[in-house]
Formats: sequence, C-alpha cells, structure tokens
Amino acid sequence: MVYCSALNCQNATSGVYKNSTVTFYGFPLHNKLLLKQWIHNMGREMGTPSKHQRLCSKHFEDNRTIGNICETLRSPFE
Ligand SMILES: [Zn+2]
Repeated sequence: MVYCSALNCQNATSGVYKNSTVTFYGFPLHNKLLLKQWIHNMGREMGTPSKHQRLCSKHFEDNRTIGNICETLRSPFE
C-alpha cells in the first residue's frame, strides 16, 4: 500500500483511506526545480523525498505541473 506524503493528506492506494479518485505520483528526483515545486505543493518542509514516497494528484492544481515530465514517473500503484 502507498500513502500520500503530503501534510494532512491520508489518501492511500488501498485500505481504509483508499481514494480511487486520485492518482499517485513518484517524486521527480532528477529534476530539482520540479522537485522543489512538488515539495511546496505538499505544504510541509522536508528534505529530499525518497523514491518510495508518493504524492497524490490532489496537490496539483495545474495539470502542466504533472504534465509531460511526470508522465514517466507515474506510479504503478493506481
Ligand atoms: Zn495527497
């Protein structure tokens, strides 16, 4: 099971907090600028996320943020 890493967000891929209306994305660890934006979207200060952490689509207002760059980072846990 995968949980969203954002503050006050309990969306998960399964279990009690399962939310099938959102998509989970892995962090763009190779794109520092984008990564910074993602961390900002999470609403909390943190260091570099691990490659196992996910952020759900609820935290993206602008589809372009997810857009092409993240297409390849799409989590298999949808
Ligand atoms: Zn979330």
